[in-house]
Amino acid sequence: MATVTLNQAEKTYPNGFKAIHGIDLAIEDGEFTVLVGPSGCGKSTLLRMIAGLESISSGEISIDGKVVNKVAPADRDIAMVFQNYALYPHMNNFDNMAYGLRNRGYSKADIESKVREAARILQLEDHLDRKPRQLSGGQRQRVAMGRAIVRQPKVFLFDEPLSNLDAKLRVDMRLEIKNLQQRLGITSVYVTHDQVEAMTLADRLIVMNGGIAEQIGTPIDIYEKPATRFVAGFIGSPAMNFLDGVISDDGKHVTVGDGVMLDIDHNIAGGRAVVAGIRPEHLSIAQAGQGTINATVRMVESLGAETLVYLDFGSKADNVTLRLQGTHNFSKNDALGLTVPADKIHLFDTESGKRL
Ligand code: ATP
Repeated sequence: MATVTLNQAEKTYPNGFKAIHGIDLAIEDGEFTVLVGPSGCGKSTLLRMIAGLESISSGEISIDGKVVNKVAPADRDIAMVFQNYALYPHMNNFDNMAYGLRNRGYSKADIESKVREAARILQLEDHLDRKPRQLSGGQRQRVAMGRAIVRQPKVFLFDEPLSNLDAKLRVDMRLEIKNLQQRLGITSVYVTHDQVEAMTLADRLIVMNGGIAEQIGTPIDIYEKPATRFVAGFIGSPAMNFLDGVISDDGKHVTVGDGVMLDIDHNIAGGRAVVAGIRPEHLSIAQAGQGTINATVRMVESLGAETLVYLDFGSKADNVTLRLQGTHNFSKNDALGLTVPADKIHLFDTESGKRL
């Protein structure tokens, strides 16, 4: 059990590229932290810095209160689970799980009991004699997890561990990882570019963009109050709708499209240019004649439990996505009137993208 603390941690690669810009972070004992962001935002770099697989250019990283900048990966008391499992193909699964313990000089009896216990937790007892290639992708991933668990490390680090699995298995393994982490209570840092995985696994989310932490918070905080337009667009699926707008003189409305006035619940000076953000699930179809946003259906996707409707709005043909529960029969070019409650409109500064 341990805390992980980053104090102005930075990484500049030897070619001069600065991948991580001054990140401050305090991960609590037993907390499940997820680093999420688009490709190239620096999440793997940051995880590898915590693991000790990448050096730290400046700042400090501490595990359990001890600065580890110069401590070798093997001496950091961490265990890492990789996307490609990194199992030894010539060893059976027992030996794969026992490998780290043997290297550390554990007794045979100790190794036997630790591996058997991990296999029991992960339901791998019947597969210990087999080689990794004789297992399914999900079982292999569990062996990789088993190898991490047996060492009882202070910190688990996960680098996109589910990206090689099919959609159903990803969901099963996601639940297993969450369950396991809660039972074992081991401080965990998990990297993913999948925002559903991020939302469901995280006690705390770190949304990264261009080497900085754009927002740190609980998944629900981030969903409800995204700090920037970038975060708002990244978290939530389908993505938030963004419409350019201007605050009305009385400050009570935002004008979007061809002069459509939407009620807002903010305190912003009139005349200011803003970007209005509306999540697809917060738009609803208005009673006849009551809609404020009049839009035209471009495409419909029926998913059974819900329907996604893609619409064009205004003469600039802004794209608007609407997410409705259940099935609906709309056709291309149908005209729909939409409404949105004032407290579901997010406003961002046009220039900085910061939440207003
Ligand atoms: P992905 O989801 O695609 O794995 P990521 O968020 O994990 O992306 P990183 O792998 O951390 O991103 O890379 C962050 C940035 O650092 C990228 O722009 C990448 O090109 C750059 N980078 C990574 N490794 C090196 C290196 N050894 N030398 C120079 N630049 C690097």
